[in-house]
Amino acid sequence: MSAVRSIAHVFPAVQTTEGGGFIVNRPFPTRQLMDFDPFLLLDEMGPVDYAPGAAKGAPDHPHRGFETVTYMLAGRFGHKDSAGHSGTLAPGDVQWMTAGAGVIHSEMPDPEFTRTGGRMHGLQLWVNLPARDKMIAPRYQEMPHAQIPQGRSADGLATVKVIAGESLGAKAAIEIRTPILYLHFTLAPGARVEQPVPAGWNVFAYGLSGTAQYGVNGEAIGAQQMVAFAGDGDTVTISTPENETGDAAGPTEVLLIGGLPLNEPVVRYGPFVMNTEQEIRQAVLDYQAGRMGHIAH
Ligand code: FE
Repeated sequence: MSAVRSIAHVFPAVQTTEGGGFIVNRPFPTRQLMDFDPFLLLDEMGPVDYAPGAAKGAPDHPHRGFETVTYMLAGRFGHKDSAGHSGTLAPGDVQWMTAGAGVIHSEMPDPEFTRTGGRMHGLQLWVNLPARDKMIAPRYQEMPHAQIPQGRSADGLATVKVIAGESLGAKAAIEIRTPILYLHFTLAPGARVEQPVPAGWNVFAYGLSGTAQYGVNGEAIGAQQMVAFAGDGDTVTISTPENETGDAAGPTEVLLIGGLPLNEPVVRYGPFVMNTEQEIRQAVLDYQAGRMGHIAH
């Protein structure tokens, strides 16, 4: 018998600006919710329609102690880092960066996108690393759109892109350190998904567009809201009403994200997330001394 998880709390995303001034919807960290172990941050960048020349990004900055998972939905982002990696993220692409001991990178709109302007929409999730992995060598995994496994419900009303974990018959291809689930569902009217989630994992949903129903009572919750589930079951249900037509922009889109909590102290200072104050001081010193490298521009 599977037990459906109930809703513990709903957190509306807070709109803020990040990096060089781009607008993000941020369910956490906020004053209401500092983190959601093992996750440290979720930013929905935009959606925003840029005029030619107006697109913004995040110039050179460091990270240590966790992973950043960038998932583009619209627009094109270029990235460059102190380990010599560079590339462009197109819609649907995922970049999984394990910052580990430290990396300096830039995340800027692709020059051609900046020239033409257009819609930018993307997500960045920060996944904490356990103490034993915080100082590992930095690593990148790039997953172009075409290589992201996709699943489909038997009735065809629900489809899913599997970035981490398993869903609707599809299994993720990315190697991960901290066990997590990262699913992007697209739901037609009348769709219903029963997603198994491991006992003990912290799990939340985040609406990107339209309204979806969650939990035992099928509570309807709109976009830009984070639905934190209680730990009382092994299944999460997501469904859409028969008459749900989504936003003008498209169908109901929902992220379902979960992970095994690390249950370790979290000490964060901007782009560094460690376990102790001393480790944070060391991160700042290492960064200032150039020990996280430089980007060749
Ligand atoms: Fe960054």
